[in-house]
This record gives sequence, structure tokens and C-alpha cells, in this order.
Amino acid sequence: MAFQESTVPDVYQANFEPTAYLDYFKLGQNPLSDEFLHFLLKHYNATFKSAGGLKGKLLIDIGSGPTIYQLLSACESFEEIIATDYTDKNRLELEKWLKKMPGAFDWSPVVKYVCELEGNRDKWTEKEERLRRTVRQVLKCDILKERPLEPAVLPPADCLISSLCLEAACPTLGACRAALRHLRTLLRPRGHLVLSGGFETTFYMVGDKRFSALPLEEKFLLEALQETGFTIEKLEKAQRPAEGSDDRSDYTGMFFLVARRRD
Ligand code: SAH
Repeated sequence: MAFQESTVPDVYQANFEPTAYLDYFKLGQNPLSDEFLHFLLKHYNATFKSAGGLKGKLLIDIGSGPTIYQLLSACESFEEIIATDYTDKNRLELEKWLKKMPGAFDWSPVVKYVCELEGNRDKWTEKEERLRRTVRQVLKCDILKERPLEPAVLPPADCLISSLCLEAACPTLGACRAALRHLRTLLRPRGHLVLSGGFETTFYMVGDKRFSALPLEEKFLLEALQETGFTIEKLEKAQRPAEGSDDRSDYTGMFFLVARRRD
């Protein structure tokens, strides 16, 4: 319904508090969120930093939120990165870190972890600088719109990343399929889409605010990608660990996939 679809992004604009969301990225506070982050970082590293990894000129991150972890490996193999999000506050929070403004989130434990994965723990300040240099713009984006970045006009990207955004932004499976079609228009033919998130999430907390999520299943994701013009090249998944608890969200597993625009 048009009503619901136009309401979802405004819920984010009004209620999504970037600093509360960033609690998920404070390593060492909750084993489950650490595990989720480690899972993603390992696969980003394998996708962008290994021999034969993805590389190119332009990479666009869709629904970046206030986070940069998802770009730490990619900034070594892409010349330019554009970060995007729907909300003003998230874009400001990102700018704060990019411009080293007071009160910016401390990503250094996460950056050090990624440098360790890359075999270079001592180079973490250089990686931060490289990422700051590589992210050229932070743009407004709405994946529910046919042209998600309008009015910005960009060359087709070689690669898109999107993490934990589809399930947050899309109210229905139909909207999710449409969003994949919209994202496809931002990619060059044969360009890559690197998508990750949680399986079967119905909600997640950001501070004391509860956000509903679209429960995604593997079968749906694979079919929707096929139908919208992508070929799946890699799918990594892991179950939510049985031990430990985190009542901030009810995802049952995590996924990380690489798909390619067919033509
Ligand atoms: N990618 C980040 C943030 C995920 S949280 C990470 O991996 O942690 C979900 C994000 O989706 C929020 O930042 C929210 O503002 C954004 N979002 C919600 N609706 C959106 C829409 N219609 N288009 C683009 N982004 C949207």
C-alpha cells in the first residue's frame, strides 16, 4: 500500500538515533553482536582483499546508517566510495567521523580488527585516513524510490554494498523485490552487489525504540535476486549462536552474499 510505504522512511527520519544504534558496534559488550560484526568483517575482507577480490572505480554503499565498518576492506580496492542514507542524522553522524569532528564515534577497535584480518594491525591509522579520503560524498537515498539517489546523478557503479538495510527499509516482500530492481539501476552491467543482513528478523531495538523488520528467508532472497536480474556468485551464512543472549533483535541467522548484475 502506498500509505505504508511512504510512512516507513519517515519512521526512520523521526526515530532512528544514530548514537544509540552505534552501541551495536562497541566490541566487547555483547558476544552476539560481536559475532555478527566479526562474521560481516571476515566476509568483506574475503570479498575485497583476497586474491581475485572485487575492485574498481566507484562503489556505492546503500543505507550506510552511521556506520563505516562495511567499507573498511573495500576502501583498499575501490577508488571512490559514496555513502548514502535516508536520514539526516545518520548522514551527519557519518560526516562527523569523516571530518574528525568532536564527538565522532570511535571506530578504532573495529578498524584494528580489520587490519589484523588483513595481516597489518599496525596500519590502522593509515586505513582510517584512506577510508576518509576514499569516501567522496554522503548522499540522501531512498531505496523505495525508483531512482534511489535522485536528484544526484552518478555514473553507474562498479559495485554496491548494502548491509542490514533491505530488511529495515522494506515493509513488504514486494517492496523488497522492487528495491532490488531500483538498486540494479545504479550498477553497471556485470557490476557486483554485496548484500548482507539477518535472516527472519521481525524487529530490532535502537536504544529504547523498536523498529520492525521484514523477515527475510534464504529462498526468497535468492529468488528475488534472480528475478530482478542478478546472478548469485557467493552465499555465506551462519546461524545465530545458541549460547549468549541479546534481546535487542530476533534474527535467526546472518547472511553475506555477492551477486552480479546479469546485463
Ligand atoms: N548499513 C548500516 C545501517 C543499517 S540500519 C549497517 O550495516 O549497520 C538500517 C538503515 O536503513 C538505517 O540507517 C536507515 O536510515 C536506513 N533506511 C531506512 N529506510 C530507508 C530507505 N527507504 N532508503 C534507504 N535507507 C533507508
